[in-house]
Amino acid sequence: MMDHQPLKVLLLSAEVVPFAKTGGLADVAGSLPKAIHALGHDIRVAMPRYGRINPAKFGLKEVVPRFPVPMEKQMEEASVLQGLMAPDIPVYLIENSKYYDRDGIYMYPDDAERFIFFCRSSLEMLHHLDWQPDIIHCNDWHTAIVPNWLKTVYKDDPFFQHTASVYTIHNLAYQGIFGYRVLEIAGIAEYGFMYHSEMADLAEVVDFMARGIYFADVLNTVSETYAREILTPQFGEKLDPLLRDRQDRLFGILNGIDYDAMNPATDKYIAQNYDADHLDQRVKNKLALQRDANLKVDADTPLIGIISRLTDQKGFDILGDAIDHLLDLGVQFVVLGTGDPHYQELFSRVAQAYPGKAAVFLTFNAELAQKIYAGTDMFLMPSRFEPCGLGQMIAMRYGSVPIVRATGGLADTVQDWNPSTGEGNGFSFTRYDRWSLFAAIVRALESYKYRDTWHQLQVKGMSADFSWNASAKKYVDLYYRALATHGNER
Ligand code: ADP
Repeated sequence: MMDHQPLKVLLLSAEVVPFAKTGGLADVAGSLPKAIHALGHDIRVAMPRYGRINPAKFGLKEVVPRFPVPMEKQMEEASVLQGLMAPDIPVYLIENSKYYDRDGIYMYPDDAERFIFFCRSSLEMLHHLDWQPDIIHCNDWHTAIVPNWLKTVYKDDPFFQHTASVYTIHNLAYQGIFGYRVLEIAGIAEYGFMYHSEMADLAEVVDFMARGIYFADVLNTVSETYAREILTPQFGEKLDPLLRDRQDRLFGILNGIDYDAMNPATDKYIAQNYDADHLDQRVKNKLALQRDANLKVDADTPLIGIISRLTDQKGFDILGDAIDHLLDLGVQFVVLGTGDPHYQELFSRVAQAYPGKAAVFLTFNAELAQKIYAGTDMFLMPSRFEPCGLGQMIAMRYGSVPIVRATGGLADTVQDWNPSTGEGNGFSFTRYDRWSLFAAIVRALESYKYRDTWHQLQVKGMSADFSWNASAKKYVDLYYRALATHGNER
């Protein structure tokens, strides 16, 4: 295939904005396709039709009526509803009430089976649509079985002969580890476990992530720094030996954000629209947020925002150690997040102890998230590790200055402010401990006192390009590389 020929790409994801979202994966799956399409390629998306996705709300239409899907030794049935992400970008939603008519997205005992069914239905669906993709782009463990199938059960299927696979690791910490039984459900028991001389565990469990890494034609992760980090035992989550073996086909491509959806000049959820030339207007969002969050309404008090899944990854243990001291410095905090009860308790305690100074919302709320990006002065992400991180990019787009730990994508997007040279667009620290976190926040608070400096920092973030423009081109290059690799192996 020549470089200039348009590609047909099927992107598989467990979550996709605007249909279902728990984190950054959904943002990527809901925005990268638009940028790939804008480059002239036919990209389509598939995901499960979870019970919470209302067909009427999204105008979903059935495009493939019930068809058989092989599961273990029998056939289950799926049907396909179609929605649109943009006029020419279909999203295929796989329907099956047994697997998906539930309140949530994940965390069910049969998750392995649910996502095997989603993947198998997506491949079988293609026969019915008579649409042969050049590339199947898989994301995270939920869809990692597909490259494995393309090299086993579908190996001799003429329909998939020229289909290459790309596997994107959004977070190596979630590998999808299950027992032998899932090999039977997936119809690949005859091929058995994987073996690797440095990874004894692989001979005893089925690790979906490992299979994606091993079988995909090419792989990538979502920032260049994380792509390097995961080759080491510290960040490799026990898969680093396998990743080192596949290093020649592992790339780092920074995520972008959807610049149309994330735009303070047009955002309909925020109290006052603004842009980099009208930053004086922005304070109205801060005052509205303080009011809504029951914080003391005061334009001059520095307000720090956090919007995050509450998990160990995100650095809330070191924040927990420092937060009382920070609140004593006279800052305000607003936290929006769901997750680990341990961190929910931490933030609830803080909210109770510091009325008017700390506000905590333990819920998932996309509208409130926009209000926080638009209304805070600073946005905190002290992550232990961070494959890419979208929060810091959205914050910069909205003029909230990021304070981050320099790891993964945070290191690739936020450079520490240097007051003597004027370089940098935020505040970052390296050592993972409370003191380094504390010092970075104190430096931010010092700079906040100088209006010109702060304005300069805000404008830098707002005028940087974190759109998909550059990264979408890199994905297209990756797709062509996958095709070439696939061809070489045939
Ligand atoms: P991760 O993918 O690890 O969760 P990212 O920073 O890559 O982290 O992406 C998180 C995305 O989810 C951002 O768009 C953020 O605004 C959003 N988000 C996280 N928690 C919430 C929440 N409780 N309510 C609304 N949006 C949230």
